[in-house]
Amino acid sequence: MMDSLIRTTYYFIHLMDSSLKARLEQLNEVFLLENQKLNLSSLRDPKQCWIGNILDSLPLLHRLDALFPIKQESYALLDIGTGGGFPLLPLAIARSDLHCTGLDATRKKVDAVDRIVSALALTNVKLITGRSEEVAYKPQYRQQFDIVTARAVAPLNVLLELCAPFARLNGILVFWKSMHIADEQRASLSAAKALGCELVETHRYELPEGFGERQLLIYRKTAPTDRRYPRDVGIPKKEPL
Ligand code: SAH
Repeated sequence: MMDSLIRTTYYFIHLMDSSLKARLEQLNEVFLLENQKLNLSSLRDPKQCWIGNILDSLPLLHRLDALFPIKQESYALLDIGTGGGFPLLPLAIARSDLHCTGLDATRKKVDAVDRIVSALALTNVKLITGRSEEVAYKPQYRQQFDIVTARAVAPLNVLLELCAPFARLNGILVFWKSMHIADEQRASLSAAKALGCELVETHRYELPEGFGERQLLIYRKTAPTDRRYPRDVGIPKKEPL
């Protein structure tokens, strides 16, 4: 398993070109306006939101080429429990070859993200309102995505059941996590096995201004998902695999 520590304080300053930075700053502004109407994020200060929501969404970009050694013209990405649009929107803005879909159970949040998408005229973002336990059985979404992401949605064992059914065979699942998840990781081993997912990489990164170190857990789906997963709404959380 690869284990890499890359410091975002270093690479974002050096690798972000000025037009991308301007687009992301525009997202920060528009998001904060929506966040005044609806509680999408506790990070209300522009600088805090920039670091904790926008920069925090981007580290996956530095691993994509390595994770897909055979370059594709486009990648289908699904962000589960996207809430106010993280990591969905920064990823969509940074890479027009990602065809992004955001899913959330709360219609008000999906509507807010939809307004942000219109304000920024993003053409590579679609949104779905629904519970992943139900949406996962729609043939147009089941096992259709190259990349499935989730940040701040559930513990790993629950996430694996909610997310794996959407990934195509050999697709990846990417979970945003804090550094203190040893117990959570231990408790996720049986779920990973049942869902045919293998942890292939832990990508550590560090955000500036005291936000500290965080990590992406990246799984590859190595077997098709059994048709009994995910179980009914609420069961993955109540009785984790
Ligand atoms: N990813 C965002 C929001 C996290 S809050 C961020 O990091 O800022 C978690 C979100 O997950 C909530 O908006 C909630 O509605 C959604 N959610 C939780 N369980 C879900 C499920 N089973 N299906 C769809 N959305 C779900």
